Amino acid sequence: MAIEVVSFDMEGTLVPTDFSSLVWETDIPRLYGEKNGLGFEEAKRRVIAEYDSIGQGAPEWYDVDYWFRRLDLDGDWRRLLEERRDACNPFPEVHGVLKRLGERYRLIVSSNTIREFLEIQLRCFPDTFENVFSAPSDYGGVKDPHFFRKVSEAMMVEPERMAHVGDSLRFDFEAAGELGKSVLLDREGESNGPHVLKDLEEFESALSLLG
Ligand SMILES: [Mg+2]
Repeated sequence: MAIEVVSFDMEGTLVPTDFSSLVWETDIPRLYGEKNGLGFEEAKRRVIAEYDSIGQGAPEWYDVDYWFRRLDLDGDWRRLLEERRDACNPFPEVHGVLKRLGERYRLIVSSNTIREFLEIQLRCFPDTFENVFSAPSDYGGVKDPHFFRKVSEAMMVEPERMAHVGDSLRFDFEAAGELGKSVLLDREGESNGPHVLKDLEEFESALSLLG
């Protein structure tokens, strides 16, 4: 069946994780340290331990508002995102690939990132995506087959006509692959196999084979 909708993960796929990492691993620990009179390294160790106690399978993991409340931090967390907005730049091949694919397919984003992060990241891609789906913000969950079914319904397309690409084995390749086509992006070259590609130009070539 010919592909009609092409779905992209955001972090690690279209943009590096720098922007998110700075907020999660620098800004939040710094605020926590200031609040509790701890040095940065100790504050970071404690905050990361708190993150790990929730785990990436829970939507709260991705929710800055939840963490501000849980860690009892002051101020407006949206300000942190604005202050870090310059840290968000796409991988080098991304703009060219999106421009070409946009002429042939309907393009969307399917992400585990909360909408407030996505809105800043999407400023790098004006008028590119027909729709943007955040699993935690829109559906209160993480990317799984149920989420991708909801996405296909919202796009009014059969799941078999969607191809998704992302850098997580679980949340991208496996979750999307149960319903439609999926490809694992491995920019570091750590995995092998016919479903593993190293950048989005390889994905663009592979799409023509998918139909
Ligand atoms: Mg990712």
